Amino acid sequence: MSEGAPVPYPTSPRPEVLTLSPYIPGKPADEVKRELGLERVVKLASNENPLGPSPRAMQAVQEMAESLHIYPDAAGFHLKTRLSQVYGVAASQIVLGNGSDEIIMHLGQAFVRPGDEVVMGDKTFPVYKTSTLLMGGKPVEVPLKNGFLDLEAMASAVTTNTRLVFLCNPNNPTGTMTRKAEVDRFLEAIPPRVLVISDEAYAEYVGDEEYGTLLPHLKNGKNVAVLRTFSKIYGLAGLRTGYGLVPEYAAALINRVRLSFNQNALAQRAALAALDDLEHVRKSIRMVEEGKEYLYREFAAMGLKTYPTWGNFIMVDTGKDCQAVFRALLRRGVIVRPTSAWGLHTALRITIGTPDENALLIEALKQVLQEV
Ligand SMILES: *Cc1c(COP(=O)(O)O)cnc(C)c1O
Repeated sequence: MSEGAPVPYPTSPRPEVLTLSPYIPGKPADEVKRELGLERVVKLASNENPLGPSPRAMQAVQEMAESLHIYPDAAGFHLKTRLSQVYGVAASQIVLGNGSDEIIMHLGQAFVRPGDEVVMGDKTFPVYKTSTLLMGGKPVEVPLKNGFLDLEAMASAVTTNTRLVFLCNPNNPTGTMTRKAEVDRFLEAIPPRVLVISDEAYAEYVGDEEYGTLLPHLKNGKNVAVLRTFSKIYGLAGLRTGYGLVPEYAAALINRVRLSFNQNALAQRAALAALDDLEHVRKSIRMVEEGKEYLYREFAAMGLKTYPTWGNFIMVDTGKDCQAVFRALLRRGVIVRPTSAWGLHTALRITIGTPDENALLIEALKQVLQEV
C-alpha cells in the first residue's frame, strides 16, 4: 500500500478500506413504481426466485415468530446435521453464514495475509475481490475466455504467494459452467497448500452431467471448498443464509473468525424447511428451463448476442450502452443488471423470470432498442 496524500477523515481508516468501493444498491421496486407512476415493476436484476420462498419455509418462519426472544443456535446443529446427511460430509466440515457472501469474507479473514495473492476470474462475483482487498491481499484477475473461466490460465497465475483461488461455477455474471474434466486437470496443477473455492450458488439449476462441482474432490480429502446458498433456487435471499462445505481445518479456522450468532434463527429454520421441499425446487427448475428457451429464442430473433447459461440468468449483449438501456427499461418497469461494474459496456445480466415477466421484458427491450 503506497503512502498517498493524507486523507480527510477525522479518524483515518485502514488503507485497505479505501481500496474498496461502496456497494451502490438500486432503488427498491416499490420506490421505482411510485416515482415513475408505474403499475407494475418486475425485478430481474438479482437472480432471485420469482416463485418466492418454499411454502414450507414461510410456514416455518411464521411458527418461529413466538421464539424470537431466544438467541439462534450458534452451532447451527439442526441445519448442519441435515446438510451433512444430504451431502455425505461431516457436520464438522460445514460452516454457516449470513449468506454465502459472509463466508467469502470469512475465508479472506482466515487466510489472506497482506500481499497474499488470490486468483479469480476478471469478470466474476465481486465479493472475492472485496474479501481479498480488505485483508491487504492482491486479487489476481484472470481474463475469461468467451465468457468462460479460463482454468488453464488460472492455474498458470498461481505463484508461491497464492493462498486462495475462487472458481465461480456457474460464473456470475456470464452464466457459464466449468466442466468436470477441466476442474480435474486444474486441481492436478495446483499445489495442495492453495485452497481452491468453488462458489456454486446456482448449482441446483445446472442439470448437466459434465458439471464440475468440487464436492467429490472435497470428499476425497482435497484442499477445496464448496459454497452454496439458500438465496437463489430456495428463494430465501431476504433471510441471508448460505453454507460452505469445507475441509475440517478450514471450518475450525472460520469458527474462530465468525461471530457466534452470524446466522440468525429464522434463517436456520427456514433453510431446513426449504431444503426438503423438492417440489418447490423442481418447479423452479422447470420454470427456468422454459424461460431460458423462450428468452434465447427471442434474443436470437432480435439479433442479440447471448452467452450460454447454466444458471437462472442470461448475459445478453445489446450492442448499445448498457446504462442507457438499463435506464430506458427501468422507465418501462423492468429492472435488469447493467454490466458496467464488471468493466463491460453493452451487456446486461437478466434474471429469468416467470413467463409473464419474461414476456414483459422482451416487449420492453424491443421498444427500448429502437430508441436508445
Ligand atoms: C447470489 C450469489 C452469492 C451469494 O449469495 P448470498 O445471498 O450471500 O448467499 C454467492 N455467489 C454468487 C456467484 C452469487 O451469484
